[in-house]
Amino acid sequence: MDGSQKPCPKCGKAMKVKSWSLTDLKNWGSYRVAKALGIVETGKQPDPSGATYKKSGYWGKAGTPKMVPVFQRMPQEADNWEAEMQLNRYRVMLEDRGVPIKRMQVQVTVRDGGLAVARSRGIERNTYMIAIPEIDNEEILEYFDSKATDLAEAMEQGSWSIPCTEKESWEGVRCSRFCEVARNCPKGLLAQTGE
Ligand code: SF4
Repeated sequence: MDGSQKPCPKCGKAMKVKSWSLTDLKNWGSYRVAKALGIVETGKQPDPSGATYKKSGYWGKAGTPKMVPVFQRMPQEADNWEAEMQLNRYRVMLEDRGVPIKRMQVQVTVRDGGLAVARSRGIERNTYMIAIPEIDNEEILEYFDSKATDLAEAMEQGSWSIPCTEKESWEGVRCSRFCEVARNCPKGLLAQTGE
């Protein structure tokens, strides 16, 4: 019996099992999308439109080609850890209920897609489909069990003082620019106000 089969509960014979794709819809800003895809600036090149600088400055002399950033997708730079943990948690729950998952992915709508800020990060499209790798069940369960324990303790005592790890807080970038609860968190307050 291979992985696509399981015994029939009535007759015990092998029966084919359908496996499913798990897709989660996300609405992320371009910073996070670039991070998840591993899009990084690798250099500059003359603007393909042929534009030139109108004035001289630190950027270049008037009349010379305007330089624009060049972006590349570098898988080794990609960091989509949070979504990978989340979807793998869903996968484990579904598989526990007898729903085999063959493939996981997130379908991302870029909140600031089409705006200059997104293009400045190398994000040219408004939607992306990002594949999610499978993570070992033990690692997933250990992480989420510890979070559930922390949450229960925080609810019981009415407060919590241990901030997110460096990985969870995107090495502090989330605390200073993107966290919705930063004003209620000592690390966030420090990052945003210096207090
Ligand atoms: S501000 Fe606090 S809650 Fe928000 S990401 Fe940083 S450590 Fe986590």
